[in-house]
Amino acid sequence: MKASVMPHLSSRILSINGSGSDGWGVFYRARAMVAAGEMVTELTIGEHDIRTHPAILDAMHRAAQAGHTGYATIPGITALRDAVAARITRNTGIPTARENVLITPGGQSALFAAHMACCNPGETALYIDPYYATYPGTIRAAGAVPQAIATRAEDSFLPDYDRISDAALAHGAASLLVNTPNNPTGVVYPRSTLEDIAHAALDHDLWVISDEVYETQIWEGAHLSPRALPGMDQCTLVVGSMSKSHAMTGSRIGWIVAPEHVIEKLSDLATNTTYGVPGYIQDAAVFALAQGAALEEEVAAPFRRRRALAMSILEGQNVVGHIPSQGAMYLMLDIRSTGMTGEAFANALLDTHRIAVMPGESFGAAASGHIRLAMTVADDSFAVALQTLCSFAGMLIPSDFAPA
Ligand code: PMP
Repeated sequence: MKASVMPHLSSRILSINGSGSDGWGVFYRARAMVAAGEMVTELTIGEHDIRTHPAILDAMHRAAQAGHTGYATIPGITALRDAVAARITRNTGIPTARENVLITPGGQSALFAAHMACCNPGETALYIDPYYATYPGTIRAAGAVPQAIATRAEDSFLPDYDRISDAALAHGAASLLVNTPNNPTGVVYPRSTLEDIAHAALDHDLWVISDEVYETQIWEGAHLSPRALPGMDQCTLVVGSMSKSHAMTGSRIGWIVAPEHVIEKLSDLATNTTYGVPGYIQDAAVFALAQGAALEEEVAAPFRRRRALAMSILEGQNVVGHIPSQGAMYLMLDIRSTGMTGEAFANALLDTHRIAVMPGESFGAAASGHIRLAMTVADDSFAVALQTLCSFAGMLIPSDFAPA
């Protein structure tokens, strides 16, 4: 008999998290303080301070009671695929049919499925730094190799043609993941940036995976999907979600919009992984989408208000800089005048004032010297926290600092 040894875990799963300090220690410390009964103002995670609308929950309950609790059809129920297709056609002008839509358990699984569809094992998948924290791990989970394209605070963290093109050439990349409105920066990509992305994608045969989960949270400018640019509907996979637009984070409901042949293959993947999304959740999603823009605006309104509050507070000082806050539920602040890293500042702010923010470093090297605030607490607490943060930063600046 062979001596018994432990079977090994796959290198794929062992490598998902990557290595190195990622600045999430501040978040876990804040959570531990809250668990120990301390009062902490948590401006860390992108989750609304309101719940899913009761009318959506009623629709979910009715659907479950009506028996929609069995397996649902795999690409998604017809009514929901049609509703998503109609919404995308209306918003982008690009004709989109049911066959272009796969319903997924949230945007996160859509990001994973999209990379599974676009990248062979070992191929490079590009993404823009700063980035939503799961991106590199999602790419590694799909067996591809993540490669960040750095951007600069001075350029509002926008990528450009040369940076994308150079990275695509250097790595023979298969895909490029972009996100507008952007988490963590709050920037909405202008048309010129999207045109750069489209040109680079077409020049280098890249799939564009376009994460548009914040499309309903626009404070300035307009949301433009790269899929709407000439030639791009054939090489773009759009990731959508009802988590942010309808405060349905826990319902796990989202989609991929892509060329029909891609959706067919993604359906094969879904059959062999998720086996679809619960029917009663999909029915609730159909109901929610049918409520139109009014409900989406109601969900976005608290962030719109707090963002306006933040602008008035930030205008009154010259210590903390900010990246243009045009969309999504976040503010990216530049605290480089304090001479501290984002992580050191966030730790000091937590210790001194019991205010928890995310270090920019948690979202990539490009965002070092920055912090991200989620505008997810009541207006008055948010305003007090931001004012406190600004005065704290003011006390930390070296005496030789001259504001620009
Ligand atoms: N993309 C971005 C940029 C996000 O911020 C999030 C959630 N925070 C997701 C995707 C995933 O969202 P969900 O899986 O809840 O749809």
